[in-house]
Amino acid sequence: MLSGGVGGARFLQGLLHAQGAAGTDTEITVVANTADDLWLHGLKICPDLDTVMYTLGEGIDHERGWGRRDETWSVKEELAAYGGEAPWFGLGDRDIATHLMRTRMLDAGYPLTQVTAALCERWLTPGFGDRLRLLPMSDDRVETHIAVADDDAPSGRRVVHFQEYWVGMHAAVPAEAVIVVGQEKATPAPGVLEAIETADVVLLPPSNPVVSVGTILGVPGIREALRATTAPVVGLSPIVGGAHVRGMAEQLLGAIGVEVSAAAVAEHYGARSRDGVLDGWLVDTADAELVPRIEAAGIACRAVPLMMTDVDATAAMARAALELAAPAPPTRPAG
Ligand code: GDP
Ligand code: CA
Repeated sequence: MLSGGVGGARFLQGLLHAQGAAGTDTEITVVANTADDLWLHGLKICPDLDTVMYTLGEGIDHERGWGRRDETWSVKEELAAYGGEAPWFGLGDRDIATHLMRTRMLDAGYPLTQVTAALCERWLTPGFGDRLRLLPMSDDRVETHIAVADDDAPSGRRVVHFQEYWVGMHAAVPAEAVIVVGQEKATPAPGVLEAIETADVVLLPPSNPVVSVGTILGVPGIREALRATTAPVVGLSPIVGGAHVRGMAEQLLGAIGVEVSAAAVAEHYGARSRDGVLDGWLVDTADAELVPRIEAAGIACRAVPLMMTDVDATAAMARAALELAAPAPPTRPAG
């Protein structure tokens, strides 16, 4: 599975729930977006990796959907009192421990893949053993930056880190361009291409198509691996009824010239039979009228409820995705 943060992590919970006891011999590799990563106060912060890790390790704050539960904010408050950088960023005291551990291991020379595996020994190994593997998309530094209008700048625009655009500016100003710094020189993290090559099915959860799935697909080699794998590739629309459910996908789709609709996102990913990456796509029942348009683009499509309101609803989405990947054989007529 290719994953962003909250959307990807919630979907994974549903997938694991759907597998239940029958899925205890299923191996899941999650390739997470790292283009949201940032350095703050000398600490390396990986929001999407941590959201997946905390969610599956039962450490997440369920209300917010990100960060540690039972969190306190003393360090953030003290830093703000000094006028420290990025006071808008949600840096919780418990969360800081993760960033301290990660930064120390990176400083010692370990690549992010190994650092992530070490952090997952606390969060994932106790519950999942080695059935669930969390990989960064790349060990290289890749960062999404957003260009926004700024009348005070000589060029008329200013480029900010994605986190500043989203967390600091609440994506309240139009995004003029999405720039993924370092992407073309990045290589997939060890294990990523092999996981895609040897998978039985590849799932694209309802993650942000621009700054989560888009940045993963942009790492040279990953798109090619998806096109080459023998596994079916099935995605779920993050756009329902012409709007993102939460987040800022609408603003960013606008910046890359893609209409905000479940069909346009499917066409943007494209059919594997026509230079794209998708074999199947699920849209919400609210978008059922888009199914013929998506099938005309060469992508098998079904409309099912796609709101991740609770783990049962999300598990049903996961079952529908697996069913689209491997349709059950037709039942024989009785007699
Ligand atoms: P982030 O990294 O935390 O922004 O999380 P992701 O990229 O994994 O997912 C964010 C995207 O998930 C948003 O852009 C929404 O469009 C989508 N999303 C969130 N909740 C739901 C839901 O309940 N159903 C569907 N279909 N999409 C959702
Ligand atoms: Ca993210």
